[in-house]
Amino acid sequence: MPTIALDLGGTRIKFGLVENGQLLASANIAVSSESFAAVMPVIETQVAALMEEAGVEKIDGIGMAFPTIVDSDRMKLLYKYVKYNDANDLDLIGWAKSKWNAPLVMENDARAALVGEWQYGAGRGTDNLVMVTIGTGVGSAALMNGRLLKGSHYLAGNLGGHQVIRFDGVRCNCGNVGCLESEASSWALPELIKRQPGYSESPFVPSTRDEKPDFEAVFRLAAEGEPFALSIRNRSLEVWAAGIQNLVFAYDPERVVIGGGVMHSADVILPYIQKKLGEAAWMPPQPAVMVAAQQPDWAGVLGMGYLATQLK
Ligand SMILES: [Zn+2]
Repeated sequence: MPTIALDLGGTRIKFGLVENGQLLASANIAVSSESFAAVMPVIETQVAALMEEAGVEKIDGIGMAFPTIVDSDRMKLLYKYVKYNDANDLDLIGWAKSKWNAPLVMENDARAALVGEWQYGAGRGTDNLVMVTIGTGVGSAALMNGRLLKGSHYLAGNLGGHQVIRFDGVRCNCGNVGCLESEASSWALPELIKRQPGYSESPFVPSTRDEKPDFEAVFRLAAEGEPFALSIRNRSLEVWAAGIQNLVFAYDPERVVIGGGVMHSADVILPYIQKKLGEAAWMPPQPAVMVAAQQPDWAGVLGMGYLATQLK
């Protein structure tokens, strides 16, 4: 039987009616409300529309991914997040039961994406996997011996973006100093560009070539040999390589699936990180293989669809 899966982002919700890794019907809608109670009727309407579209009358389960740390045993959001802070006051398990007569599973969005890639994407065929998503922020998750790594507080593997890369670096938006995310992610990039020596002569100064301070411009200009963009690109690659090496040492995966917006430049990123990893001490003769995500848009939905089939 199919399942319903939701991937709740900062401004949008992706919906899928999923069966065996196939989207029978899907939707991607903008949501402005910050209250989960206010979003519930929107979810009910959208789910009804998808079920009607696919001619499905019953579902096996419902899965929801949230961009925060999630207690996936009690179905609670553990850290306050800018949206849906009222979710823990609501009986969501009872809601799923009364609306769809189905059990509910909630999980962190990076773990959901990892499961999607593991079952239906670049992670197929191995049970030892790390996923890293490099975009606005940096998300991560780990699977060891076929089990999602969760730890004693549901944090395990999830905070790869907030591992400390430079203890004397700049302050991250999480409050810590020198996180991987504050040293190389899309939100941090404009500030990092301004701090880089040579900025005043660079194409990113508004009055010169007026390039947007994003990774698209950095990789494009670096490919043309522009020296300032090259320095920013290479520094970012070093940060990501160091972070991924840390994750490889921590979890010893067979494969690392890398996703996110920067993977438009996968042809530069994957070989660079692979080579750095090969040069590191204590690596086995065949270290973890870097691969690009195969489900960049729907991994979270497919992963939650799979987890919803695992409910008893
Ligand atoms: Zn941080």
